[in-house]
Amino acid sequence: MSTTSRLCEIIAQGGKVSADFYGGDDGFAELLRHGYLRSTGVLASVFCDDCDAPHSAPIVYQGQQYGYFCPDLGFLTLDPARLGAFLPDIPKLIDRLADALGCRQRKTSSICGETWRIGVVQTDAATVMIYFHPTLSTENDARAVQDALGREARSDWRLVVTAQGALPMAGLATVRLDDLAEIDTATGALHVLADPGVLTGMPRKNLGGRPAEHGDLLKPLIESRIRDGAAVEGINAEAREVRTAFITKFPDHPIPSDPTIKRHIKKARGGS
Ligand SMILES: [Zn+2]
Repeated sequence: MSTTSRLCEIIAQGGKVSADFYGGDDGFAELLRHGYLRSTGVLASVFCDDCDAPHSAPIVYQGQQYGYFCPDLGFLTLDPARLGAFLPDIPKLIDRLADALGCRQRKTSSICGETWRIGVVQTDAATVMIYFHPTLSTENDARAVQDALGREARSDWRLVVTAQGALPMAGLATVRLDDLAEIDTATGALHVLADPGVLTGMPRKNLGGRPAEHGDLLKPLIESRIRDGAAVEGINAEAREVRTAFITKFPDHPIPSDPTIKRHIKKARGGS
């Protein structure tokens, strides 16, 4: 597992992690060394699986030793060096992501709850507003993100970075942290792996001077509808939806014909 994937796993747990559990793990050591984890004192309890009925037990200090009581085995000592508890340092992660992406309009505190604004990125075609939420696995996650983004200025292209899950949300693209960036284990800096513009499905700017063809605009539009779970099943119905979305998004562009739209929908669905 990469160091970045290990960080995703730790963030997704949503609480303190113990050095004991990750004791021999290289990724954990790298994260600690580069400040992606911060110490929060010592663990309050441990999980005992040395006996027949595994249980958790509070850590106590007795006879000048740390340990815990097991109903079967009595007092068991613990190595104090491995009792440290750690939390992911989310503000530091947000800051380093903003640096790596070259963001403007950064924010150093969360917008609301656990939703953060990383900042805005200029791509070759338009700007993308980038956010972070630890997990996108449940309806509650989706609601929390929607609530937080409701407090933000509306932007056309928005991308939510997360450590786990990819719940589709209308008008929002999502990406896992370890698909977007990678921690350089030598320096601790983040390197960007993917283009935020491409991740949102935004149409690519026409670099060759050739006027934009319908396909250049239709393909990402259709694909983003599929990815967001917005696409409807029937080709004709979906063609009407795509046509409406196209007119809204590209008001100055000639409207593609219905056969053209349908051809691109079939193509995006894996037909010919
Ligand atoms: Zn026990």
